[in-house]
Amino acid sequence: MPGKDSLYQDLRGEIAGMKVIDTHEHITSERSRLQGLESPFNLGYAGCDLCGAGASDEEARLAEEPSLDPMAAAQVFLKYYPHTRTTGYGRSMARTLRDVFGIDRLGEESFGELWEKIRTGIGPGSYSRWFRERYNIEAVILDVDNDDEYPDFFHHSLRHARYFIMVDNRDDLEELEWRSGCSIHSAAQLRDAMWSYLERLVESKKAVALKNNLAYNRSLSFERTTAADADRAFSLLFARKHQHHAGSWLKTQHRSWEEMAPLQNFLVHESVRFAEEHGLAYQLHTGLHAGYTNEIPGSRPGLLVNLFREYRKVRFVLFHGGFPYCREWGVLGKNFPNVYLDLCWMHIISPATCVQMLDEWLDYVPNNKILGFGGDLHLVESIHGHLEQARDNIARALAAKVARGDYDRKTAGEIAWNLLYRNPRKLYGLD
Ligand SMILES: [Zn+2]
Repeated sequence: MPGKDSLYQDLRGEIAGMKVIDTHEHITSERSRLQGLESPFNLGYAGCDLCGAGASDEEARLAEEPSLDPMAAAQVFLKYYPHTRTTGYGRSMARTLRDVFGIDRLGEESFGELWEKIRTGIGPGSYSRWFRERYNIEAVILDVDNDDEYPDFFHHSLRHARYFIMVDNRDDLEELEWRSGCSIHSAAQLRDAMWSYLERLVESKKAVALKNNLAYNRSLSFERTTAADADRAFSLLFARKHQHHAGSWLKTQHRSWEEMAPLQNFLVHESVRFAEEHGLAYQLHTGLHAGYTNEIPGSRPGLLVNLFREYRKVRFVLFHGGFPYCREWGVLGKNFPNVYLDLCWMHIISPATCVQMLDEWLDYVPNNKILGFGGDLHLVESIHGHLEQARDNIARALAAKVARGDYDRKTAGEIAWNLLYRNPRKLYGLD
């Protein structure tokens, strides 16, 4: 039997030639890129490691809002770069810097050069060349907030239910009335407004999924709630008289999560019902958050089980390997026919964990349930580092399987093909 290294090289070569469905991106539109609106700070997730590396609150603030003072942001970024460039995020970014931008080591001088290359790098029609020719990506599932045009191989995941679900004061409510064109005076009317707003989006965009990223705001425990309880929480939005000309502290009174949870839970269930009725998949952020100091236990994928049980016809897609709850995440894909596991972002959160877990997941999760790649990025150029890492990881895990005699080389190739192409294509109906 050939050794693990030669098996890896062989599989890696085959995987390099495989078409890919990219299941999750936040790619900036060509229009924004042509206007030069992007900067190196969106070139991946290395910025998310600044605080972990020890950046102070003040430094983090500078780095998080680079438009305020780009040079100060760059200095913070570079100060910690020797320590952040070795993480999964950092290595993916370094690969993009080297292979796409020809920059071996980021420093003050090359930072300016990089910025200029990003500002001027995209021309009309570039995205077809980047995705189709360079990356061999046939279709992209896009998660953005804008109404810009994208090439026809982009399909949408709608994240907009969040605005309705997270309403917490009178100003938000007025915003939603404006957004939906509906009057909203009860939980039921709020639900109807969300519903009709989403229906308009489904008609105008090529939508294949709804996206729920509430893990960033609250626990993923979405209990079933009666309409009466939801309405009681809704009434709290009116607890203070609305005074337009009083100080803004009177206008915007934020509610606690405990107070608003019954309304949020009611609307989450209604958003799942929307997915069911419109044949959309339902994507959920699980596990690690981008950014700092979030409470990870509230993002445990196991908290979602009641939804999987109740909405049997909905295809739930759990994101990000559920990291660090990877095994729990895998078990959900194994146990529930309507749960799919999406590795988007996971390949660079930790390449080592991803290889190890793929080896394990493939032991107990049927190979039609795992979606192999989603970049989760803003800049098209940065997909390079992430996609190459994903190809490495999948080849490594499968080479280990074949070397161990778990199955043959041909089966390993079939599995890679399922992960990267067949499974997402089928799940999202892209045939
Ligand atoms: Zn994302």
